[in-house]
Amino acid sequence: MDEDDLRRWAHRAADWSADYLAGVGDRPVRAQVAPGEIFRQLPAAPPEAGEPMEAIFADLDRLILPGMTHWQHPRFFAYFPANASPPSLVAEFVTAAMAAQCMLWQTSPAATELESRVTDWLRAMIGLPAGFSGVIQDSASGATLAALLTARERALGHAGNRDGLAGRAPVRVYASAQVHSSVDKAVRIAGIGDANLVRIPVAGPLHGMDPEALEAAIVADRAAGRLPAAVVACLGGTSIGACDPIDAVARVARRHGLFLHVDAAWAGSAMICPEFRDLMRGAEAADSLVFNPHKWLFTHFDCSAHFVRDPGALTDTLGLRPPFLRTLGHEGVTDYSEWSVPLGRRFRALKLWFVIRSYGVAGLQEMIRRHVAWAGELAERVAAHPDFELVTGPILSLLTFRYAPGGAGDLDALNERLLARINDDGRTYLTQTRHDGRFVIRFQIGQTTTTREDVLTAWQAVEEIAGALRREEAG
Ligand code: PLP
Repeated sequence: MDEDDLRRWAHRAADWSADYLAGVGDRPVRAQVAPGEIFRQLPAAPPEAGEPMEAIFADLDRLILPGMTHWQHPRFFAYFPANASPPSLVAEFVTAAMAAQCMLWQTSPAATELESRVTDWLRAMIGLPAGFSGVIQDSASGATLAALLTARERALGHAGNRDGLAGRAPVRVYASAQVHSSVDKAVRIAGIGDANLVRIPVAGPLHGMDPEALEAAIVADRAAGRLPAAVVACLGGTSIGACDPIDAVARVARRHGLFLHVDAAWAGSAMICPEFRDLMRGAEAADSLVFNPHKWLFTHFDCSAHFVRDPGALTDTLGLRPPFLRTLGHEGVTDYSEWSVPLGRRFRALKLWFVIRSYGVAGLQEMIRRHVAWAGELAERVAAHPDFELVTGPILSLLTFRYAPGGAGDLDALNERLLARINDDGRTYLTQTRHDGRFVIRFQIGQTTTTREDVLTAWQAVEEIAGALRREEAG
């Protein structure tokens, strides 16, 4: 392909993208294929000779699209959103054109300096005070791992990195059962071990960690010769949106000298609206906080904003400077690869810059406020319905419910069958969780192009499919 071909195919890709996004609402939201169906249609061997782009594009429509679940569909209400937007898409395109590897300041000074600037914008946008430094990580999982490694090394006086963990007092991490499994994974990778992730019970309407139980667990561990190191608080847990009382948790962590990491992967974006910030009260006392603009801030995956109070503690833990990575003549510059587990880094700041400038803070706030308002309205409908039960929420734009018509037997099994029917129907896509031992259906609102009408259409589909299922099963 020469430049003229690139121009032609890039235009074609732009047209394809605009057409796809304009029509995505007419497709079934979740892919309607069986496991292996796409794989079987793909040739077992790569082509020996190059193929025309026309043929590749034709196969994109014929083979790949039917196997896609449409995350930008306006009635995608499953998991958490990954809500992209046109300005972010354009930025991703030009980022791909430059294809820069932004591991060091000198490998692209603009990438590093823009990252410093836009993370500082984000910090201010969510109401975190100056004094936190930001970095864009590949994922919240990566940020949490970086935070727990830092916490481990702080507790061990950097002896873990130097000598390993063998023969040391067990390093302890505290979190409720509502935190994302990325915390469990980080604890494993950091060599802390499942047995040293201490689960603190939750209480109250936000299903938040009980600070007194946290205090008691730390005191008991110290008395037993263990090494309390970190607390992970959740702000918007994945299952039902649980929020820990961060201020009370932070007081306990401070009193005992523990590192506090806040996982706000989903809910953090909503903190750009001051009226929701009660949920993060106390976060200014954290050592580390992560949230994902790639979830709910209209920015393409991957883009996790990670804020740390003491970047030196992070770079002392993760930073290595072999001679081949030194920036000669500018030793004091920021090399963001020292802030994360991977060395190589994409230029992720550009899409954030496009998004924030294109919508403005007010435009972004407006979209998130609408999602939260529609979730409130939907929750009222669910609660008012005689055959449905609102189980949790709404917490911001996430609620859970279940179908509980009078006289039904095993409600877990009934709701599982209902969910399968809903997702086979294709008008919307919802996913499940377990809450208090019960199977419940989650409904989160966060798509860029979703309207109130889409929410009502999805709910109508749920009501209709549930009624039909019940009639069918009754006889
Ligand atoms: N934390 C929470 C609360 C999440 O909901 C998720 C993903 O849904 C994660 C962490 C992991 O995010 P990532 O995919 O960026 O690692």
